[in-house]
Amino acid sequence: MKKRVLITGAAGFLGSHLCDKFISEGYKVVGMDNLITGDLKNIDHLFKLEDFEFYNHDVTTFVHVAGKIDYILHFASPASPIDYLKIPIQTLKVSSLGTHNLLGLAKEKKARILIASTSEVYGDPLVHPQSEEYYGNVSTIGPRGVYDEAKRFQESITMAYHRFHGLETRIARIFNTYGPRMRLNDGRVIPAFIGQALRGEDLTVFGDGMQTRSFCYVDDQVEGLYSLLLSDYSLPVNIGNPDEITILDFAKEIIKLTGTNQKIVFKPLPQDDPLQREPDITKAREILGWEPKVGREEGMKKTYEYFKGLTEEELFKSEH
Ligand code: NAD
Ligand code: UDP
Repeated sequence: MKKRVLITGAAGFLGSHLCDKFISEGYKVVGMDNLITGDLKNIDHLFKLEDFEFYNHDVTTFVHVAGKIDYILHFASPASPIDYLKIPIQTLKVSSLGTHNLLGLAKEKKARILIASTSEVYGDPLVHPQSEEYYGNVSTIGPRGVYDEAKRFQESITMAYHRFHGLETRIARIFNTYGPRMRLNDGRVIPAFIGQALRGEDLTVFGDGMQTRSFCYVDDQVEGLYSLLLSDYSLPVNIGNPDEITILDFAKEIIKLTGTNQKIVFKPLPQDDPLQREPDITKAREILGWEPKVGREEGMKKTYEYFKGLTEEELFKSEH
């Protein structure tokens, strides 16, 4: 009998790729999403499949799914700084109340649950690279706090269900991940730069561009998450690509990749924007036998191809 997995945030970037992965591994997939930052076009191709079902539902209200569930992956949450500044209360609720509902469902169904945590639990880190032992440097009251603190609460309540109820839980601390199906206007740096290049606009680097990020291609991320779910390890594991780059150098790479004649312009650095970020993936290597395989050049080419395939209307549609 096929195993059945519930994926929240299924119409989003990571959720939709996870749906594809579990379908291709022979699972029955139940997708759930309220479409607040997602798009049904990301999972359009799945609706014709017998093994795929979809519920349009807000997970911050009671979650019920009939029948057995073997695994739950909780990926519903706005994930870009622009999104969680625009919808701060929903952001707080989805990782707190939403996570509580899904833990309750996992307990009822005796299912294993994996939650999507984030490198943001480390905040603006004072330790570099960041290992799972680092407790983080987060402002509770800063603009990013709605996301960071909700994710920290999410980890705490998940560990409480694990310790108190004996629930099988997994915690993935996901570092910046990119690839096809990111929303063009979600404000994250990769869609922002590629969109600017495609529209013939200058590339906006925030601050002096000396802040760093480490970008992981989505296929690698999905493999890491899949291995973590099937492992027997219940403490947090960093999943990301340790290849660190400054945002300024990254903007130059995008200019080369896209062949744009536009230049780089500097804009103010958003408040609490972390200065450096690189995952220590020793645990993922040792416990999961996982490490990323796709380099930035290859991953960015695939991502650029995806964005080039958008229509003019999609390219010039502004949400903000
Ligand atoms: P996304 O915005 O593309 O997807 C999130 C999805 O969740 C959207 O489809 C949205 O409609 C849905 N959603 C939001 N609130 C909901 C609610 N209350 N009920 C039901 N559905 C809801 O973002 P993403 O990049 O795919 O991120 C997915 C998850 O991974 C998030 O939890 C995010 O915090 C985590 N994460 C992502 C990254 C990354 O680099 N992409 C890094 C760290 C953590
Ligand atoms: N950034 C930038 N220009 C943009 C968008 C983002 O310089 O148009 C910077 C942003 O300030 C941050 C980095 O790129 O330092 C990554 O931003 P993103 O929103 O992708 O993710 P996060 O800050 O959550 O890592």
